[in-house]
Amino acid sequence: MSSILCDREKPACGGQPVSDVASNKTIFALVDCNNFYVSCERVFNPNLEGVPVVVLSNNDGCIISRSNEAKALGIKMAVPFFEVRDLIEQANVRVYSANFTLYGDMSRRVIHTLAQFTPEREIYSIDEVFLNLSGFERAGLSDYARQIVATVKKWTGIPISIGIAPTKTLAKLANKQAKKRPELKGVMDWSALPDPEERLAQIEVGEIWGIGPSGERRLKSWGIETAHKLRQADDQWILKRMGIVGQRILLELRGISCLPLEMVRSPRKSVLCSRSFGRAVEKLNELKEAVAEFTSQAAETLREDRLSAKHLTVFCITRPHSEQARTHSSTVELPVATDSTPELIRYALREAEKIFFADGRFKKAGVVFSGLVPTEEVQTDIFDGKNRGSAGKLMQALDEVNARLGSGALRFAAAGLLQSWRMKSSRRSPRCTTRWNELLEAKTIA
Ligand SMILES: [Mg+2]
Repeated sequence: MSSILCDREKPACGGQPVSDVASNKTIFALVDCNNFYVSCERVFNPNLEGVPVVVLSNNDGCIISRSNEAKALGIKMAVPFFEVRDLIEQANVRVYSANFTLYGDMSRRVIHTLAQFTPEREIYSIDEVFLNLSGFERAGLSDYARQIVATVKKWTGIPISIGIAPTKTLAKLANKQAKKRPELKGVMDWSALPDPEERLAQIEVGEIWGIGPSGERRLKSWGIETAHKLRQADDQWILKRMGIVGQRILLELRGISCLPLEMVRSPRKSVLCSRSFGRAVEKLNELKEAVAEFTSQAAETLREDRLSAKHLTVFCITRPHSEQARTHSSTVELPVATDSTPELIRYALREAEKIFFADGRFKKAGVVFSGLVPTEEVQTDIFDGKNRGSAGKLMQALDEVNARLGSGALRFAAAGLLQSWRMKSSRRSPRCTTRWNELLEAKTIA
């Protein structure tokens, strides 16, 4: 893997001539899962095909995924659920609470399937992956991409779209077009367009990857309304007004790649686990239960990445209308960096006691581990007095049991049993790919 990385071209920013970058080109293909969370729900419930479906954010707050039928009803992204509740009831829209355990596992399956098609890929988000299709030109890029679309659908049930282009920014635009136009069957190769300039003229600057609402306003105030106009603009002029980020976007629109494929995740600096509560938490023991639960989840992530933490922060946020200031936090430096859940919970509970106050209506809490070091390189202390070897074995056994029997099969009593503070997710579908007791059941009808 490392040799592939060293050979990658350096970002060609700063207006070098096109010929300098064309020699070692990457062919970017952006794979984007269509309406991903809704599609995951449909895989295990075919009754949802062809009907409007939406998925809600944590605590059932806002709409975060919509089927095409729900979009056609005019339900917008990120609107609070209560604002569209009437419409949803009238149109019999199926509503689901977010099931991130399921979506994470389905994402892993999609990525695993994509790995069959090219060794070079960047996982950009839970439902987006950039591939390098350089070297597959002979197969015909569009045909090859359609093969990818068909295989992912067949193996995972998830529909995807692919946009192919010489730069990431154009691949994003190509992907949007692939989604909008059914005749393309989920794939668009920007380089094969007979009229790329004309196509750019139909795209508003606000639709371009990396241009947010304020960038859009500024560009429009200068008369640059379309992607085509931005492409034609003087790159030095844009550099002065919008900085290197603006210039990069312009060059990428011209087909000059400035954003390389990033195949290796940069090392973690911290691990965070935080959640909103389903109701205001007012008792210390409830806050401590939540903090113990979040600590134990974050510690699992630490061990997955073979890291130990030197610093631990506990924070909580009070309800907006309570009288106290809103965020409260406390940090402790551990004598020896650790990845052991019981030890971390002990420290976290002490910090939780410090930030708790009577009459505080807490709506959210979280734990952050920082000062991360590889577990093999942890500096011990001669006065430590702890048997770290056996603590490590205990954690290994815990993780193995939970991997086999499902996450949370073995838990710490400090995290409580009932967890009545847990966030609302009253409409969550079964976590049928990761929990034995939530498997799909097949019934024969006599
Ligand atoms: Mg998507």
